[in-house]
Amino acid sequence: MNYSNIRDKQEKIRRGEISLVENVHAFLERISENFDLNAFNFVNENAVKDAELIEAKIKEGDAGKLAGAVISVKDVLSLKEMPLTCSSNILKNFIPVYTATAVQKLLDEDAIIIGKTNCDEFAMGSSNENSAFGAVKNPYDKERAPGGSSGGSAVSVAANLCDASIGTDTGGSIRQPAAFTGVWGLKPTYGRVSRYGLTAFASSFDTVGPLTKNVSDAALILEVISGKDPKDSTSSDNEKPQYSQLLEEERKFKIGIPKEYFGEGLQKEIKEKIENVIRFLESSGFETVKFSLPHTEYSIATYYILTTAEASANLARYDGVRYGYRSKDSTTLDELYFNSRNEAFGAEVKRRIMLGTYVLSAGYYDKYFDKAQRVRRLIKNDFDKAFEKVDLIIAPTTPTTAFKLGEKNEPLQMYLSDIFTVSANLAGIPAMSLPIGFDAKGLPIGMQVMSPLFNETKILQFAYFLENSLPNFN
Ligand code: GLN
Repeated sequence: MNYSNIRDKQEKIRRGEISLVENVHAFLERISENFDLNAFNFVNENAVKDAELIEAKIKEGDAGKLAGAVISVKDVLSLKEMPLTCSSNILKNFIPVYTATAVQKLLDEDAIIIGKTNCDEFAMGSSNENSAFGAVKNPYDKERAPGGSSGGSAVSVAANLCDASIGTDTGGSIRQPAAFTGVWGLKPTYGRVSRYGLTAFASSFDTVGPLTKNVSDAALILEVISGKDPKDSTSSDNEKPQYSQLLEEERKFKIGIPKEYFGEGLQKEIKEKIENVIRFLESSGFETVKFSLPHTEYSIATYYILTTAEASANLARYDGVRYGYRSKDSTTLDELYFNSRNEAFGAEVKRRIMLGTYVLSAGYYDKYFDKAQRVRRLIKNDFDKAFEKVDLIIAPTTPTTAFKLGEKNEPLQMYLSDIFTVSANLAGIPAMSLPIGFDAKGLPIGMQVMSPLFNETKILQFAYFLENSLPNFN
């Protein structure tokens, strides 16, 4: 079925050129044919019924902005009546009683939710290998990781199992899997999209955003899901632009290139591809400047201290009493807590709870947690200073293209692969990964674009320009 984006699809459904019911059938078939990719934790078989209703609405002319769109949702976001597992045994049979605001907004605009996607347990990881339901496979090479933690979301888009997906990004979980699978992944400004109904990992970092096949769909979905929500006091009432209407405006942005992001450890082909983009931008009239983000070297340590601290508090609620898994043979309350958590949390989640508890404990709080908070401010200041001089910053999304499943078997190695993505979360700024080509093995390469707080419009305009004008794009 031929359509270039969600808007185009809706128009073609209206004109009777595409049948939404057939389209949903086709996606469901593709999901089962590609079962080995392990992208979904739950598939919504009712999607066909939804398609019948929405198809009729489109033809009657009273359909919402996302009517016709078939979207998957990362399994850390609540959707009433569908299981919410966070890819963890501790929530294996949990059915939530309410729907996340971001997901409700999709439904209100007539999107069809095709299912819940696999991810790292509680969104902790960079390869999807931490899922209790097994790793997701990269469709470009099934021996390789799709990235994480939103690996199922990225693969559902890359392998054409749906039109788009909603993921979450605490330290790169939308952008890194987008880069590894060749799709567009946008992490909005912290507070742009409500976190209500998103299972908390690190509350001062968590964001919700789209993974898509093109820039227009990213803009349209962001426009739908963003905005102030009384149910999330950290959501912002900052003006919400109609992103999808602003894409055509061509602007010659001033682009910053941070030298710390192009040093040792960066795969040569990624560097070369980005340098090609920079040359193209210069020849198209964009001004580019090299500059420094001096605190970059502290970002991984700062991120892993602060997010584990927040996680250790957030995950205290899984105690075997209130909901989720409960260990069978405990005789005391303490034992019940201990056994339930010990039996049902995976190794990485346990590691982070222990690390987080440690950095918060009396005697170590000042040395680690408090210090990391201060360094977070310095990292944020670096960006503020940079954005006094430039409109956008471009950088690699990842140091390498997709690595092999099982290759990073040591936690620190895995953490270090997040080097280019965590800073945007520490600073709260929006960032997008753009697919800009392939390496010699045929694996996708992502380039990252960052902007000041609440400047998603600039990122999307820039991405749209590149999508439409970069020669030999992809
Ligand atoms: N890979 C990072 C981590 O493991 C980011 C995860 C995320 O953004 N949810 O924490």
